[in-house]
Amino acid sequence: MTADRPAMTHLLVTLTVEPPGIRVTWLLDGVGLNAGDTIGRLPVSIAGAPTLRLDDQMVTAQDHLGAVPLLMSVSADDDGEPRRSWRVGRSTSGPIELSYLAESVTEEPLPATAPLELRAEGGGLSGVLKCFLVLPPGPEDLTFTLRWNGPVRKGQSAGGWMGVTSLGEGDGRDGELAGTGLELLGDTYVMCGDLADRHHRDGELSTWWLTPPGIDVEAFSSRLGTTYQVMSEAFDAPAHPYRVFLRTHPHRGANASAHPASFVMAVNPANPLNEASLYETVAHELVHEWLHLDGPAEEVTWFSEGAADYYSLVLPFRSGLLDEESFLRAVNFEAREAYANPRRDLHLRQAQKVFFSDFLTHRLPYARGMFYLADLDARLRSATSGEQSVDDVVRFVVRQRRQGRRTSVEQWCAQVQQILPDAELPILDSLVFTGTGRPGEDSFGTRFVQETIQVPVLDLGFDPSTLMTRQIRGLVPGGAAERAGLREGEIVDLPRYPDIVRLDVGDVLTVGVTRDGQAVRTAIPLTGATAPVPCWVRRSAP
Ligand SMILES: [Zn+2]
Repeated sequence: MTADRPAMTHLLVTLTVEPPGIRVTWLLDGVGLNAGDTIGRLPVSIAGAPTLRLDDQMVTAQDHLGAVPLLMSVSADDDGEPRRSWRVGRSTSGPIELSYLAESVTEEPLPATAPLELRAEGGGLSGVLKCFLVLPPGPEDLTFTLRWNGPVRKGQSAGGWMGVTSLGEGDGRDGELAGTGLELLGDTYVMCGDLADRHHRDGELSTWWLTPPGIDVEAFSSRLGTTYQVMSEAFDAPAHPYRVFLRTHPHRGANASAHPASFVMAVNPANPLNEASLYETVAHELVHEWLHLDGPAEEVTWFSEGAADYYSLVLPFRSGLLDEESFLRAVNFEAREAYANPRRDLHLRQAQKVFFSDFLTHRLPYARGMFYLADLDARLRSATSGEQSVDDVVRFVVRQRRQGRRTSVEQWCAQVQQILPDAELPILDSLVFTGTGRPGEDSFGTRFVQETIQVPVLDLGFDPSTLMTRQIRGLVPGGAAERAGLREGEIVDLPRYPDIVRLDVGDVLTVGVTRDGQAVRTAIPLTGATAPVPCWVRRSAP
């Protein structure tokens, strides 16, 4: 028997609102399975966020011969993480349909975990597809289409109901919600519910929420919309639709995650973050829509993260969306993170190895990349009497990318050398990779003057993860924390990380700890090493 193999494998995913969850039905066309082959996979958790608890009775499959028996098992994926797999009990024939009800996760969200899981909020649902979509095993480059079926309400149409995804709005019947690749499909974020009155648009940028996030969301969204427009003009690249999804959680701070042309952030309406820091966070993400160099992560992360930090401050400042005080505060904060960092002497190639596990190291490529770009901007402006700037080099990168060409670090340097006489790689090496260089005086323009201040190195005598987890780990014998009486494993109450970074010589870090049911406060004096850190202030009038 010969079968005509379809030229393409296609997956049609239909999401039907079916309280208390979403019925997921997909139709896979172009794949024939033999008995025992895997038809679908779902990790047990993704980046700490729980997926669905589906057993094999809850997932059904059929082809044109009828029901296909399924067998579920849990095994380790390539990274050793547990995942559920469903295998078919017989050979399949023709398109295969899979169906199950995805119920929202009801456990309280974990602190410091991105808002990825399928969750119900205010009469709607949201989550990233890979947390509730059983994905077929391949091929990786299959094409897909997404469709929504809204809720059916007795005797009336579902008035304000909308389904919104990273890929677009509408029910998908116009073909808008389509794409190529399992990775894109899995990374797609979705939100559905009574969203007609719970979103705000400003140009191509829109913000969506199911419950009030506790901030002035219209002001927040319109400021971001203008920022997005300013960036698209600065990079000489057309803006495409970009969506910000807001969720709520009961924790301090914001947890966030980036998705295709979209960003999701969980905030606590009872204890909202200041809007300035939310704005900075999303503005940083917007830059990622355009600016990337090509190469291994340890070679190029400094550019994507450094450029995101640099342009999310410089462009809003230039266009009046960020006032001078906030701009300087952010720049000088980042200078402390770069140059008084206990890991400040680390080479970026070493840093990449612990990029995700060591919190202080994580910040190095961001900060060094930003100050390199600021320094380069000053050098380019000075050499061309203000005719050219780092924006011109960045626009070259964006143009290359739009034309499907890659730009390596070497090509970046070659592009800079078309304007500047000296070899760029050694300068890049010192400011970014080894971290020995310091940005020049006029890095943020001649209206600011650079001073050097002595800043305490945050050598607190415990692992930096303590600043995030608030549980003492890696207590150094004889170190500052131990001398202050703190013990390994103790849960501590600490100031917010930005407030710790802003401590000066002579300050103390006040730590709260509960012992024998008694709240005690102790102080870690910042008497250890200091580091010279550049600091920009407004140039006083002559
Ligand atoms: Zn980033």
